[in-house]
Amino acid sequence: MTHFFVDPADVAGDELVIRGGDVNHIKNVLRMKSGEEFFASDGQGNDYYCAYGGADDGEARARVLYVRPSESELPVNVTLYQGLPKGDKMELIIQKCTELGVKRIVPVNCARCVAKLDEKKAPARIKRWQDIAQAAAKQSGRGVIPIVSMPMSFKAALAQAKSASVRLFPYECAHGMERTRELFSKIRSGDDIAVFIGPEGGFEASEADTASQNGFEAVTLGKRILRTETAGMYVLSVIGFNMEA
Ligand code: SAM
Repeated sequence: MTHFFVDPADVAGDELVIRGGDVNHIKNVLRMKSGEEFFASDGQGNDYYCAYGGADDGEARARVLYVRPSESELPVNVTLYQGLPKGDKMELIIQKCTELGVKRIVPVNCARCVAKLDEKKAPARIKRWQDIAQAAAKQSGRGVIPIVSMPMSFKAALAQAKSASVRLFPYECAHGMERTRELFSKIRSGDDIAVFIGPEGGFEASEADTASQNGFEAVTLGKRILRTETAGMYVLSVIGFNMEA
């Protein structure tokens, strides 16, 4: 069933209005017929199942048939603190981690980051990345659109992530899969989970030490070195496998 996102302010009783680029999609791509059904998520955990009622002046109207809690969200809030990768890898990371249920992605300027996101270019890049998150959320039927934050320094990211109930620091020099399994098995519904992934060059030992002093435990993801764009997906896949209802 076709899926859109709707601003909560555009739902009133059994009336719902879709605005923006989706209106053209509804009218000219889908050529939706009156009465045709679709669902729209308000990003606050509600999915509105609707019957299309027509479109004009940049608005598509629909009648709400029933509302259901979004069933596609993981019962945990995962924030991926991603060491800024080179090229367009961040687009792949955002798309795949959105499909896998991430709630927020924070680009982090680590010591070994080759890519730099300067103040001038950052807003446009974040906007593009946020659009990618929205498109992936729509495609995968997410109830919410993951947030792509402005880039942070490693220290600022650690300080922000410190309050998470689960703090995972996958580190290429860590050992002991048993301990990794133990940490993942302790994850419970409602947990806020912070995951740090290094850039292509990995983490400096000093970064791993600082993370450890801030309550992050370095964990191994196995004997193979995963690419920076793979590691976050691996973590989200394990969490999803364990926690999906
Ligand atoms: N330059 C590092 C090296 O060659 O050893 C590789 C860094 S890896 C490309 C990027 C990030 O993915 C790492 O900093 C870590 O966060 C994560 N990662 C990749 N493989 C991992 C593994 N086997 N165990 C734990 N973390 C891993």
